[in-house]
Amino acid sequence: MTTTDTALEPPAPVALGTWPTPVEPLPRLASALGLGENDLWIKRDDLTGLGGGGNKVRKLEWTVGAAVAEGADTLVTTGAPQSNHARLTAAAAARLGLRAVLVLPGAEGASRSGNLVLDGLLGARAVWTGVSGRAALDEAAADVCARLAAQGARPALIPFGGSSALGSRGYVECGEELKEQVPDLDCAVVALGSGGTMAGLVTSLGPERVLGIDTGALDDPAPVVAAFVADLLDREARPAALRVRGDQIGAGYPVLTEAVESALTLTARTEGIILDPIYTGRAMAGLIAAVRDGDIRAGRETVFVHTGGLPGLFGHQDAVAYGERGLTAQA
Ligand SMILES: *Cc1c(COP(=O)(O)O)cnc(C)c1O
Repeated sequence: MTTTDTALEPPAPVALGTWPTPVEPLPRLASALGLGENDLWIKRDDLTGLGGGGNKVRKLEWTVGAAVAEGADTLVTTGAPQSNHARLTAAAAARLGLRAVLVLPGAEGASRSGNLVLDGLLGARAVWTGVSGRAALDEAAADVCARLAAQGARPALIPFGGSSALGSRGYVECGEELKEQVPDLDCAVVALGSGGTMAGLVTSLGPERVLGIDTGALDDPAPVVAAFVADLLDREARPAALRVRGDQIGAGYPVLTEAVESALTLTARTEGIILDPIYTGRAMAGLIAAVRDGDIRAGRETVFVHTGGLPGLFGHQDAVAYGERGLTAQA
């Protein structure tokens, strides 16, 4: 499967990131896990350039490309208060001279931290809706768009998490980079949130070579990923073929697990690489579990896809406390 298999040509993407992102070895982490020194690699999609970096930049190149082609002057999107996607939508808007409006759940909190600080620096406007849940948030975003249009603006709604078949094209491109950078790739391990990242990788690399670690952002993500893949390939959806691990969700998306704590410190202390508590920490915890149960084996090349998220660590009280405890434990 290659990009040329994909259906209908969409509007051209806009240039936002720095490509290709590097691939680096993780020899000390590999040894710690009982793998060979050349068995484990990292795709640095935390180093995508714009706005502090992360996986949402690749998806935004396509979704914002479509918005610009439609003549939009304002990007509207939704997400959790610590949404990396919302922060990078704000950065994309700044880069292109557009306005950004972030439609957020709940009420404005007393403390602003992590991604919210950067949203403010980037000039985004936050609309605290008081609602919770994806459907209510989508509805609130549609209302915000209608209000902006009535005021004479030209808003474009960027989907939750930036995920749609169109946004997934950014990860088809990442898969194509990986084919060149790691020709003997056996398995790419990636966090699975709103689904677009895994969908793009599966479209490029095939379902056998992508292991998605469910973060609990969606109730049932596999059919969502399958639908994006089917859309990109213009074929029937076949969710059964996807490799998804559901064992790292724990008590739910925002809650720090012990497996994630171990993954954060092991990766930081063997390789100097920082993961985040929601996405990449879960993805690494899933990779470690997959090595333990033999799904990932020595003698084959595994790539951990680092999707970013560092600002979110500073917006997560328990992760901040866990990091601080490390300092006193070493005294
Ligand atoms: C959003 C996000 C993901 C998940 O990507 P999806 O395309 O939503 O599945 C993974 N890692 C980080 C850091 C993210 O912000």
